[in-house]
Amino acid sequence: MTLTKLAIIGVGKIARDQHIPAIAGSDAFELAATVSRSGGADGVENHEDIDALLNARPDITALSLCMPPLPRFEIAKKAILSGKHTMLEKPPGATVSEALALTDLAAAQGVTLFATWHSRYAAGVAQAKAWLAERKLNKVEIIWKEDVRRWHPGQDWIWEAGGMGVFDPGINALSIMTEILPDPVHLISATLAFPENRDTPIAADLTFSGPDDLRVTADFDWRQEGPQTWDITVQTEDGTLRLSDGGATLHIDDTKQALEDTGEYPGLYARFADLIAAGDSDMDLRPLQHVADAFMLGRRDTVAAFHD
Ligand code: NAP
Repeated sequence: MTLTKLAIIGVGKIARDQHIPAIAGSDAFELAATVSRSGGADGVENHEDIDALLNARPDITALSLCMPPLPRFEIAKKAILSGKHTMLEKPPGATVSEALALTDLAAAQGVTLFATWHSRYAAGVAQAKAWLAERKLNKVEIIWKEDVRRWHPGQDWIWEAGGMGVFDPGINALSIMTEILPDPVHLISATLAFPENRDTPIAADLTFSGPDDLRVTADFDWRQEGPQTWDITVQTEDGTLRLSDGGATLHIDDTKQALEDTGEYPGLYARFADLIAAGDSDMDLRPLQHVADAFMLGRRDTVAAFHD
């Protein structure tokens, strides 16, 4: 099988930790080049910006955009207008409107556009979705608490307007929520905690409403030291499901379920290949819409200044 030549744009933490190894193991893609202002990856041809890449390598037909959300729109626009199939790290944009604009542009250009939600490919998510599909839900509790100093050292963009703050990890929980719940929910209240020296929240409490008075609560906090918590618990009429470790572990009524783990990012690249082959796009914006709703509906508290 001929491999699709792909370039990564933005070689930072997630490109190094996940994208480059996943592409190396892919039977659909080869990493043909990078666009990186800081040097790129060892042994891979690098270009200073997307214009240089597009001029030099017309044979590259797919791009994976791994930079933070704020600079992504202009680069994605160039990618799509050049006819490249384009994969977007989460979140797919800094605003809902720009993600919608890219969706329309990709449709007009006839290229594949993929808004990735890596947490949906965690080992327990598909099985959780299948189990919940047949049950009546009573209550859902999401607890997503981690230490920002540990996971985002020196990343200033997460604290700048458009960086989303605690919603940068929290949107992963919302991507799982929107995947596994059988019916849509909508936000009914939110409280966002902003450090007095930052543009984005360090914590958020959200409540969603669903059919039959279903309540979903979500507690996101970036101040968690010690054990880290990425749990979703769903109480149903006949049993309790718990996804933990960000979706990697699944318990049903305290019984740990056997799971096949093929990896989140290998799953994303396999899906990207399938979308390209089928001539489709996948731009599910529901997690981003919930975050936008939280900024729109949420009460704001000012909390102690945060220093790295
Ligand atoms: P990062 O390491 O801070 O930045 C990624 C790279 O983006 C930078 O190294 C830089 O690459 C490029 N970049 C930064 N600012 C830019 C700008 N203004 N214009 C153009 N390029 C710019 O961030 P990250 O942790 O990899 O996160 C990137 C995206 O992946 C985010 O949307 C994040 O939510 C998502 N993500 C992160 C993680 C994680 O664990 N960190 C997990 C899943 C998803 P060059 O120096 O090569 O130009």
